[in-house]
Order: sequence, then structure tokens, then C-alpha cells
Amino acid sequence: MNTSLDVDSLSAGYGRIRVVSDVSFTVAQGEVVAIVGRNGAGKTTSLSAVAGLRYGPCGGSVTVAGVDVTGSSTVRVVRSGLSLVREGRRIFRDMTVLENVRLGAFTRRKTKNLGTDLEYVYELFPTLRKYSAKLAGELSGGQQQMVAIGQALMNRPKFLLLDEPASGLAPAVVEEMYDRLRLLADDGMGVAIVDQSVERILRWSDRFYVFESGRTALAGASGSASIESINAIILGVVRFDGAGPAPSGRLSDGAQHEELSHAVFPQGGDTEQDHNSSRPSS
Ligand code: ATP
Repeated sequence: MNTSLDVDSLSAGYGRIRVVSDVSFTVAQGEVVAIVGRNGAGKTTSLSAVAGLRYGPCGGSVTVAGVDVTGSSTVRVVRSGLSLVREGRRIFRDMTVLENVRLGAFTRRKTKNLGTDLEYVYELFPTLRKYSAKLAGELSGGQQQMVAIGQALMNRPKFLLLDEPASGLAPAVVEEMYDRLRLLADDGMGVAIVDQSVERILRWSDRFYVFESGRTALAGASGSASIESINAIILGVVRFDGAGPAPSGRLSDGAQHEELSHAVFPQGGDTEQDHNSSRPSS
């Protein structure tokens, strides 16, 4: 049985403009996957399209644990087992913490286990239990992010995508939040996190993807990757052929990918091509 989220050759954009042209990535249940890339690389657009939020024509395919949700509505994507925590902590500030978290379950047909799921969220984030009757707008940024994550968890997702959840938060708060997300993965969830900090997210993730100009540029195992090389790619200091600015290579660009892989995985590492061969079988 296929137990992964598979995004293949995704394209997406706004109105008639296509800003994502070829994004592919996989998230297995039980792992944390990092997505990094410079501003405007297409990370938000990709995650939104995967979650069924479309602002223009989309292409490619999205499969959630074997269920093809390509072109499906957000509600169907959520029901298939995928939740997105969008950038910017989109919660209702004038509603209580409890009301916000419970709202996350609105797509569910069966409400029988809501109490159990709420308890699961409270156990993960005890602060939310403590402030359940408080207005969400009165909480700190980190606590509001917990509300947003708690809301997403009420859909009982198999896969949780988070778009820059660390944005604007103090390092200690981020560490605590990532520790919780790691627990979710250890519990069997597939977690994908967009983070601006390569150094930080490589510490918390099992694998990573670099997005560049609307494409998946590179992928591999987080433990064996060189942070400096990935940052150099993101900043445009290194090209796929190691020559100059403006990286434009692709994961499948044979020789260029080979050369870049040596820089990113100096000890020889588990690149995405290696990883693909060990994907969970369907
Ligand atoms: P960031 O880290 O800045 O959020 P990102 O990698 O998430 O960057 P996107 O936000 O997906 O990138 O943006 C990809 C491209 O799409 C950029 O060129 C951006 O200007 C453009 N874009 C984003 N939102 C819109 C929009 N609502 N309408 C038109 N173009 C947009």
C-alpha cells in the first residue's frame, strides 16, 4: 500500500502567469521533510496548489497515500489526509483558542472522536489547554502558531505541510515547536516544513528539497548535506555547473546534478535519486 504524499511535475501560478513549472517531491509517513529556497522560488505557491488552493491553471499530479487528488477541492484534499498550515498564522483572533482549534474539524463528516482529537492537540501543546478560553489574538506569536497547527491536526491528517511556521518567532520557541512536529512524525505522520534557515531545518529533518525558480533543484538526506553549499545555491553564488550566479539546473540534469551533488554531499550522500529507489512501495 502506498503511504506517501507524492507530488509529481507540479505546475501552478496566478491568473495566466505560471510561477511553478516543475516541482516534484515525496513525503513518507513518519519523516520530516525540509523545503528550502530563496524568496520567490515557488514554495508557497507549490504547497498551496498541493493543498487544493489554486489561483490559476495547475498541472502535474498529487497523490495522498495512494489517492489521486489532482485538481481536487481543498475539502477533498483535506479529507484524503493532507492539511496545510499556511504562512502567517491565519487564525481568528477574535475567537477563543478552543473555538479556533475546533474549527479545524469543519470538513469532517464524522464528529464522533472530536474529544479524543482535541485531547491529542492539548497533550501536544499543553499551553493551548491552559489558554483554551482566551482570545487567540491575545496570545504570543508562538502560541498563535500552536493554535494554527492544532487546528490543522483536528483534520487527523496523514500529512502535515507547514509554510514557514518559524517566521517571526524566537529561536527557543521554534525549537520547541519543531520538537513537537518531530513527535508527530515519530507518531507516523508525514511532515513537510518550509523554513528560511537551512541550518536549522536540516537539524530537524530527515530529507530536504531545494526549490529554485519554480522547480525542484536538488534533494537528498539532511544528515549528509553541506549547509554552506545549499546556502550558496539558494543565494545564487553557485550554479549547477559551479560557475556563476543564477542557478537554473534541475534534479534530472545529469552532469550538472552530479557536480552539484559532490558539493552538497562531500562525503557522498543519499541524493534524491538514491532516495527514490527506497520509496515506500505501493
Ligand atoms: P517567499 O519565501 O518569499 O514566500 P516562495 O518561495 O514561497 O517565496 P512564492 O510566494 O510561491 O515563493 O512566489 C513565487 C512567485 O509567485 C514569485 O515570483 C511571486 O512574486 C509570485 N507570486 C506570489 N503570490 C502571487 C500573487 N498572489 N499574484 C501574482 N504573483 C504572485
